[in-house]
Amino acid sequence: MSDGEGYDGGPVAALRRIAFLLERAREDTYKVKAFRGAAAAILPLPTDDVARAVVDGTLTDLPGVGASSAKVIAQAVRGELPDRLATLEREQGGPLTSGGAELRAALRGDLHSHSDWSDGGSPIEEMAFTAMELGHDYLVLTDHSPRLTIAHGLSAERLTRQLGVVEAVNDHLGEGFTLLTGIEVDILDDGALDQDDDLLARLDVRVASVHSKLKMDAPAMTKRMIGAIRNPRTNVLGHCTGRMVMGNRGTRPSSQFDARAVFEACVEHDVAVEINARPERRDPPTRLIELARDLGCLFSIDSDAHAPGQLDFQVYGCERAEEAGIDADRIVNTWSRERLLAWANR
Ligand SMILES: [Zn+2]
Ligand SMILES: [Zn+2]
Repeated sequence: MSDGEGYDGGPVAALRRIAFLLERAREDTYKVKAFRGAAAAILPLPTDDVARAVVDGTLTDLPGVGASSAKVIAQAVRGELPDRLATLEREQGGPLTSGGAELRAALRGDLHSHSDWSDGGSPIEEMAFTAMELGHDYLVLTDHSPRLTIAHGLSAERLTRQLGVVEAVNDHLGEGFTLLTGIEVDILDDGALDQDDDLLARLDVRVASVHSKLKMDAPAMTKRMIGAIRNPRTNVLGHCTGRMVMGNRGTRPSSQFDARAVFEACVEHDVAVEINARPERRDPPTRLIELARDLGCLFSIDSDAHAPGQLDFQVYGCERAEEAGIDADRIVNTWSRERLLAWANR
């Protein structure tokens, strides 16, 4: 039984909030999918039908609604705070970090996110709604490029189709928020970018990252990265070392490259160095953030979210940027959408 605390958010909001908190706590996506699936299942139904299913005890007859989701829905429909939500708010609802809040408040958007078109877990619109709810003015959708087949990288044809979907989503969102088009484009072994140049030119923002042959020797890796940085389409150098410091994919050492040469190229070609906020990446390492800072680089603090709740990871990167004493104005996602777009498409 509920402890009697009231709740007037309704069942869809309760299910979405539970999913958000689970994703933010880095819970396995299969545990989260049930709640998001149940929210999607009841969203198009008249509220009277949902209420009747609660009374009749037939919620689990609805496709996509399992036992734990049904319990949440029933409590929310009765105006009670669902037990699962109460527990999660208590255990996972607090701040993720002790620092970074001031810089996080200065961020206007996020330049690196994935939807279920590549290896993310949620539809494009759900990523956009959540970014809006987090107070952003913009989110750049950066699904993977074709060569990353294990992440369902988008062919030129699929990316072209995605641009139409983004436009349609924006038509529904009004003035205050924009979903920007983008890509996380693979840096190929020779430094070329893994997508057609005319298609790259149509996008708002491009993050370029190394995902393969991370153990290449340092001179070759340096040449490869600088090749991508020199490409006039590149705006952000994603997770530059490729390291993994924890998590269920295991750990992985940093790639070896001449960081000074790479960051000097970023300054020369006006490419921002990403501070990738994912807890298992923490990329770049602190000494490289400090080197990039001292060389005069721009930065982008990105969630690299693969689920809506992971959009909240940005504060981890903010905490690190604050510790390194980086001015907010050198962080491109503190800029307005207009300034960001002018910079990314000079
Ligand atoms: Zn990546
Ligand atoms: Zn990514």
